[in-house]
Amino acid sequence: MVFMNLVLIEHSPLEKRFLEEKIGSLCTRFLGDRVRHGCGVLIKPHLHMAVAAESAVNTHPLVIRAVAKWCLERGARVRIADYPVFDPVDTIARKGGYVEALSDLDMELKSFLATEKVDLGEPFGVKNIAREALGADVVINLPKLKTDTVLGLQTGASNLIGCLPPEERVSCLAETAFDRPAWTDLLLAVCRKVRPALTIVDGVLALEGAGPGVAGNSRLLELVVAGTNTYAVDKTTAALVGFDPAGLLICRRAQEKGIFDGRVRAAGDFSIAADFKRPIADLAGRSRRWTGREKKYFLQRPVADNRRCKLCSACWQSCPAQAIAFSTKGIRIDAARCIRCYQCFGLCPHGALAVRVPLAGRLKKKKDDRRVGKL
Ligand code: SF4
Ligand code: SF4
Repeated sequence: MVFMNLVLIEHSPLEKRFLEEKIGSLCTRFLGDRVRHGCGVLIKPHLHMAVAAESAVNTHPLVIRAVAKWCLERGARVRIADYPVFDPVDTIARKGGYVEALSDLDMELKSFLATEKVDLGEPFGVKNIAREALGADVVINLPKLKTDTVLGLQTGASNLIGCLPPEERVSCLAETAFDRPAWTDLLLAVCRKVRPALTIVDGVLALEGAGPGVAGNSRLLELVVAGTNTYAVDKTTAALVGFDPAGLLICRRAQEKGIFDGRVRAAGDFSIAADFKRPIADLAGRSRRWTGREKKYFLQRPVADNRRCKLCSACWQSCPAQAIAFSTKGIRIDAARCIRCYQCFGLCPHGALAVRVPLAGRLKKKKDDRRVGKL
């Protein structure tokens, strides 16, 4: 019998054979005969953007392959799908090495096909969520172990926001704006609707530092974190990379809302990633309401390096606040309109965006960190 909040940290070299063995045994341990002949399985990876697997921003192709292979061997009907924010799935599949990794399984990455209206309760109301995620017999959630400017870390619960179509997500970001607890509550509400049966965090090739996009640094950790309780997996992953789980909003809110009792029985080696580099701290999340003056003098903001900009349009097309204008000379960000969601920073494929904190903000952060403790 599997203890409800059991979480396992397992190590495996980044090689097809070893990953299949390790991940296959985790699937057997946690899912047993829930996945059998004819069962409809949805594999939900994290497909952030169209870059090579070495960039470590997406779930690694070999991790997805190992899970798909295990399910197919049991006769399940398997789909691997996501709703990336900007790049089309087939471009991600080609550039990210997924076509090659999945070809002998006769499997492909797909975009979700259709949505269903789901009531997420107050204050969010009805949202569109991928029908395949809601209707699958078993959902296997494959987030990436990587840093995130807004959340601190990408987590199992946050990965499922990819079940909302891009335009729905962008409008949710605009709705919640500076209110990070509200954004976190939305992520939790989606996670509760999708109800993953198993979460496996891909930390084989992780991303540290200025994630969640190409500004972060890939780091070979050769580990996966797995369990049936997504929140327990998130809490374990946070501790594994040296974050205080109580300081990570998604873990804290899950407990405050009574979704997660906080108990975890974790097994594995916690020492391996203790020096994991942190993301850029989210000063915007320290208050729900910023005056125009505070925004200007204290708040970090995205800044463009137009010498690197290739006018690819990823930033302005996904900006929830329509704060980015463009011309043949490059882009210009209206800091007064910007809601500091950092979508632009996370999606820029050319490293043309950075996040800067004004001097007054740096001083304030130092003072706050001394008072409340660093995330
Ligand atoms: S800043 Fe980056 S994301 Fe925006 S248009 Fe330029 S290259 Fe594309
Ligand atoms: S400019 Fe960037 S950080 Fe600001 S709202 Fe738009 S996408 Fe978000």
